[in-house]
Amino acid sequence: MKDKIALIGFMGSGKSTVGPILAGKVGWYFQDLDDQIEIVANKTIPTIFEEDGEDHFRGVETEVLFNTENDKELVLACGGGVILKDENVAFLKENFEIVYLDLPLEMIQARLKRSKSRPLLKVDEPAEKIAELYQERRDKYQDIADWTIKVDRGVNVRKVVDRLINKVMQDEATDLTLSVELGKRSYNIMIGSGLLGSLGPIVKDNLKRIEKVVLISNDTVGPIYAKGVMESLKSLEIKVDYIEVATGEEAKSLDSAHLIYRRLLETKSDRGTVVAALGGGVVGDLVGFTASTFMRGLDYIQIPTTLLAQVDSSVGGKTAVNLPEAKNIVGSFFQPKFVMIDLDTLKTLPVRELKAGLGEVIKYGFISGNELLQKIDNRLEDILSRDFEGLRQIVFRCCEYKADVVEADEFDEKDIRAVLNYGHTIGHALEAVSGYDHYRHGEAISIGMVGAAMISERLGFIDEALVKRHKEILAKAGLPTSYQGIDPGEILEVMEKDKKRRAGVHVMILLSDIGRPVVKEVGDDIIRVVLNELRED
Ligand code: NAD
Ligand code: ZN
Repeated sequence: MKDKIALIGFMGSGKSTVGPILAGKVGWYFQDLDDQIEIVANKTIPTIFEEDGEDHFRGVETEVLFNTENDKELVLACGGGVILKDENVAFLKENFEIVYLDLPLEMIQARLKRSKSRPLLKVDEPAEKIAELYQERRDKYQDIADWTIKVDRGVNVRKVVDRLINKVMQDEATDLTLSVELGKRSYNIMIGSGLLGSLGPIVKDNLKRIEKVVLISNDTVGPIYAKGVMESLKSLEIKVDYIEVATGEEAKSLDSAHLIYRRLLETKSDRGTVVAALGGGVVGDLVGFTASTFMRGLDYIQIPTTLLAQVDSSVGGKTAVNLPEAKNIVGSFFQPKFVMIDLDTLKTLPVRELKAGLGEVIKYGFISGNELLQKIDNRLEDILSRDFEGLRQIVFRCCEYKADVVEADEFDEKDIRAVLNYGHTIGHALEAVSGYDHYRHGEAISIGMVGAAMISERLGFIDEALVKRHKEILAKAGLPTSYQGIDPGEILEVMEKDKKRRAGVHVMILLSDIGRPVVKEVGDDIIRVVLNELRED
């Protein structure tokens, strides 16, 4: 990567706002080309236009641009018209990573509505002028940019900067950060290597008033990682405590919650206490639930150590415990203060768990689109061999997708978050029928996704080739695509009881194409046929 970044794009696209924040975050310099022009010409830009004309302005612009040649670690916000001259474009291409901030025309128009200082908009119909310039320049921006960052409505500056760093500087920065934007409940997801040993400083940077940290893990993950994490927490010079629960889905219970509550009371925890969940989805769900209910809510952080927890359960704030009667039946929506994903922890994860996590990863591929699906396919072997770079790219992309979905439907009310349940209707039923100890969750949803794809095909939404694609990629990840030894009637019976059933039909997530999940009502008859097809004895 080159040692300078140029931000290009239409006027009003936020280059001068994004630039300094980006530079601050990566420790580079920031310059605004228009500011430099004003300094050199010793007049404001409207005055240059008025007194000397646009040609003169463009001349100074080129001169100032060429002056950056020997600068290093520079973020440069360019004026919208810098790309009009070929010599500027050639210079930018030679010396800069060119990043185009791509906003829809309506957003630009709204932003420029009140702008009085833009000389090119001093016309009777500025909105029309903007539309005209936009059409003229958009292709050119796209053409010369090395990177395009799409900025849609509701995407704030912080997020634009994160996307930019994650995309453009991915190879420089080993650690990636994503933000989940939920107003007051917003938080960061950090993805990287060696993060466990930096928890102390990270807590300090991300949380304000803390008096005590209580780390909670289970008796499998705790013995491997808790010691190092506790060491790092000690650097905070506040009280730290450690609680260990049993390993396994059975530990996601009210009894475990009670054990944690009791220990929090014994050690005089109060609202200044932060709890940290170190482990897979079981520990994460349990600790989140406990944190959300103890004293009506303690801050908590997620430190997921399984692939499934890293791409799915640690993000989004769904917490729960199981009752003997039903899984995940008592819970809450409660967002963590941050999520810290240390990919190094996956080195000790049993291979069956890693593959199960791939079930959720592949799910993201099918619901998000062919680009991600293909990327996952290309990286499957890397992930199975726990290659850091492969994991980093894929975990990041899955979290990015989940964060977008959670932002759009935090409380699972709008059939948006529901798409994350692709493959889960049949998957959950398989888990329940086989007593939860036969399949890992990711294995059950692997079979469930094949089922959902077959149903989508029967209803005429997708063709056979896409069903085949499901089977191929899931099998390549070492996941099952059919089940044995279970009576399909029993599976259907469990599905009848499923809470997602609306009067007389099953509400399922199907696909109308790769990247196009749809919520549909499906009748018993089709499901029965597909369950029979999925069975392999
Ligand atoms: P898990 O938490 O049981 O972990 C799997 C096994 O791996 C456990 O034995 C664990 O001790 C061990 N382990 C974890 N990290 C390890 C590491 N780094 N090295 C060695 N061993 C390690 O299972 P899971 O698949 O992570 O999570 C499943 C749970 O997540 C279920 O209870 C499910 O309901 C829940 N879940 C929740 C959400 C949500 O949105 N909240 C989403 C999906 C799943
Ligand atoms: Zn799942």
